[in-house]
Amino acid sequence: MSTYITDFMAALKAKNPAEPEFHQAVEEVFGSLAEFLDSRPEYRSSRILERISEPERVLMFRVPWLSDKGEVQVNRGFRVEMNSALGPYKGGLRFHPSVNLGIIKFLAFEQTFKNSLTTLPMGAGKGGSDFDPMGKSDTEVMRFCQSFMTELSRHIGPNTDVPAGDIGVGGREIGFLFGQYKRMRNEFTGVLTGKGLNWGGSLIRPEATGYGAVYYAAEMAATRGETLEGKVALVSGSGNVAQYTCEKLLDLGAKPVTLSDSSGYIYDEEGIDRDKLKFVMQLKNERRGRIREYAEEYRNAVFTPVDRGMDHNPLWNHKAQLCFPSATQNEVNIKDAQNLLNNGVTVVSEGANMPSTIEATNLFLENRILYGPAKAANAGGVAVSGLEMSQNSLRMSWTREEVDKHLQRIMKDIHKAGQTWGTEGNFVNYVKGSNIAGFIKVADSMLDQGLV
Ligand code: NDP
Repeated sequence: MSTYITDFMAALKAKNPAEPEFHQAVEEVFGSLAEFLDSRPEYRSSRILERISEPERVLMFRVPWLSDKGEVQVNRGFRVEMNSALGPYKGGLRFHPSVNLGIIKFLAFEQTFKNSLTTLPMGAGKGGSDFDPMGKSDTEVMRFCQSFMTELSRHIGPNTDVPAGDIGVGGREIGFLFGQYKRMRNEFTGVLTGKGLNWGGSLIRPEATGYGAVYYAAEMAATRGETLEGKVALVSGSGNVAQYTCEKLLDLGAKPVTLSDSSGYIYDEEGIDRDKLKFVMQLKNERRGRIREYAEEYRNAVFTPVDRGMDHNPLWNHKAQLCFPSATQNEVNIKDAQNLLNNGVTVVSEGANMPSTIEATNLFLENRILYGPAKAANAGGVAVSGLEMSQNSLRMSWTREEVDKHLQRIMKDIHKAGQTWGTEGNFVNYVKGSNIAGFIKVADSMLDQGLV
């Protein structure tokens, strides 16, 4: 890292203490921009790094609600409106007990470059709460969402800030949030994406992140004259992204063999086929059960519970060629990365946000594998959210085929942008390439718009 970036990082850490995920996300982006920044002194004199890493606005608020037993509960709500150089703030809401300001800031920062890469007119934001949906009844989730939106509705709008889903926020939660926004503002508008199909949602939005991560992997493989057909894939998570990653892998003839949740993972050597995937979708989206039940239903599969004392995740230690981390941040450490390489993995496409630590990322790059970083590989979700906004503005809806065609084109363009800026001899550094491509558009737009 150059002294400019080292000094910058020291100042950022001092100014934003106790936010390690935010520091990590900023270091990952700016660390890879160092050489490029030397060639553009105007960014330095305009203090673009200082401005782009400082949210335009941070909202933190109390979310009181009543449990089914009539007991008062209090959670904390967040919305970080990070950057509006390219359009209204746009990014998901995460409901998970681990949520804090640093996590939301890291996600909002990543979103800035990801949204830029999609080529669509979207700024960046992210939000959520430390509310834990696990074990809560539908009515408790509804009361929480209503309380959360009662405050959030003052700050968002279809031309201002358009939230969507993330961990713990799926179709059910978006429905409750949308209903309350409509009630508070007396307006039926495209203020959220990921809506139900009957009330303004887009076809392919639920599938988009997972499908996009697989399309991105296929694009990377094609640069070496390969396809995904016949390849074995390790997938983590079992939520929205993991489920549709599996579905698209099956469409393209690959074999997913793992899935996980926060209590452990299953390994099914015979492959998770369409029937088994249907079981998982029903288990997770309707019954809201645990992944361990997969191994109770399919006896050949093995369930391994999480062991917090281990220095690696055994999920990443199986023979495979493809890897799709689709659960959460920092789920692949350097030991996991080494295990993946030892087991024959040559393609990593990140569905989750920042799932690899900086050390793991560097190991993938040193080994010159096809490594698709999250802000490029998982941008399909927000891209189709952008298309949902377009359809809402037009008051029209496009067919499944139309939306999927747009998604495939956008993933190709994102891949191309990574190649354009990341080619180093006969290797493509998609981390560097995607960071530069995403950064330039936002930074130049900020310069155009003056000191705001
Ligand atoms: P879901 O809530 O649908 O699923 C999350 C999955 O990851 C669950 O299986 C969950 O297990 C597991 N998980 C979550 N946190 C942890 C943790 N701390 N340790 C272990 N497992 C965990 O979320 P999504 O599928 O939507 O999101 C997954 C990832 O993809 C996130 O990083 C998200 O930011 C990213 N992403 C999502 C997009 C989207 O469109 N939904 C778009 C772009 C990125 P459990 O149920 O036990 O908590």
